[in-house]
Amino acid sequence: MIRAGMLEKVLIANRGEIALRILRACRELGIKTVAVFSEQDREQKHVLLADESVCIGPALSADSYLNIPSVISAAEVTDAVAIHPGYGFLAENADFAERVEKSGFTFIGPRAETIRLMGSKISARNVMRKAGVQCVPGSDGPLGGDLDESVRVARRIGYPVIIKAAAGGGGRGMRVVNSEAALRNAVAVTRAESSAAFGDDTIYMEKFLERPRHIELQILADERENIIHLGERDCSMQRRHQKVLEEAPAPGIDPKMRRRIGERCVDACKDIGYRGAGTMEFLYQDGQFYFIEMNTRIQVEHPITEMITGVDIVKEQLRIANGDPLSYRQDDIQFRGHAIECRINAEDPDTFMPCPGVVEHLHQPGGPGIRVDTHVYDGYRVPPHYDSLIGKLIAHAENRELAIARMATALSEIVIDGIKTNIPLHQRLIHDAAFAAGGTDIHYLENKLGLR
Ligand code: ADP
Repeated sequence: MIRAGMLEKVLIANRGEIALRILRACRELGIKTVAVFSEQDREQKHVLLADESVCIGPALSADSYLNIPSVISAAEVTDAVAIHPGYGFLAENADFAERVEKSGFTFIGPRAETIRLMGSKISARNVMRKAGVQCVPGSDGPLGGDLDESVRVARRIGYPVIIKAAAGGGGRGMRVVNSEAALRNAVAVTRAESSAAFGDDTIYMEKFLERPRHIELQILADERENIIHLGERDCSMQRRHQKVLEEAPAPGIDPKMRRRIGERCVDACKDIGYRGAGTMEFLYQDGQFYFIEMNTRIQVEHPITEMITGVDIVKEQLRIANGDPLSYRQDDIQFRGHAIECRINAEDPDTFMPCPGVVEHLHQPGGPGIRVDTHVYDGYRVPPHYDSLIGKLIAHAENRELAIARMATALSEIVIDGIKTNIPLHQRLIHDAAFAAGGTDIHYLENKLGLR
């Protein structure tokens, strides 16, 4: 439970599995819930289960889930006291966080200025460097209009380099450059794309690491400067910079290394007065961690950390927003066993094209250590308007080998009829010899699929 009278009613500004996840956490803490939904989403499971629900607009996200005035009006008419943004949509929109707080509601996440600071990958790099965290070698600031200067930076750090949008996200706004001949054009194109996609043409340069792993660290911080980390996740199994399968802990990271990087990240969070859940993302190569960005929100893959630590991260987010202290100190956090998550997408397993449609029949796997986070049920229609994630299959066991075996069994049990999904891809991966060995890099999956 949380302190009475504070966070009485929470509006969930999201949809799908994460909306249901937040609703369940609220229920456990005795908090009332308000669901908001687009005209397309009336039959969403969390909408049917919430204490109250409000339609906030048509199917198109821009007119509903991204429509700030509609979301805030819904909070006003229902007397909600706080808004949980989930992930995606408005979760990392500093203007939204500011409007929420100015309208008298609690934003369940960091302060708007923190979101803004970490929303620029350039200022995030500066914060981390100050706290003693190594970043990928790069331009140490935005690339100016002088192309000769960009050429000099690239010569200094060495090819290949990657040009990145400071405001980028979702794996977009990045371009790898292998030679000086290609650099000038790549700078101009990435700048134009960044401006079009993110409304900000600030770009910077990093060394392109050729075979890194993607390893990220989970942080929790309350309003009283208690800050802890919950260890790392390995999210190297990616396709087009999108995570497909994640695991915790990351294979081969020794506890000393984990402690060291964890302490640095906690220091950085202290420096900026961080509040809430957050994730520091790193590339890991040749035994070194290089910071790339921070996500100031709950992550899709948070359940694997919950499974190995026993910490309910969403409930901690709600407690923090309520002004309560963290339920744990760093010494309380013990890592137990190994967890793997497979993201189940409604997509063609060969072409990866989204496959919306009606789920005629769903059979969920079970047994010890199996968790399924999904909003889908028999007869559910997957709409074409949003991302294709329809659920997450999570397996936890005493060690990695058993977690893999459990996941393999779960993948053989799960049935989703009526639409195509990427389950066949997961079935291949879970029996893959290199995956079984552990520590594959971020290009492994695309190479395996023949996409590179
Ligand atoms: P986004 O905000 O779009 O998720 P990130 O900065 O987190 O962007 O990068 C997403 C992915 O792009 C990483 O997980 C990695 O696969 C790849 N990437 C980003 N920067 C580099 C780099 N310097 N070298 C190699 N790969 C990179």
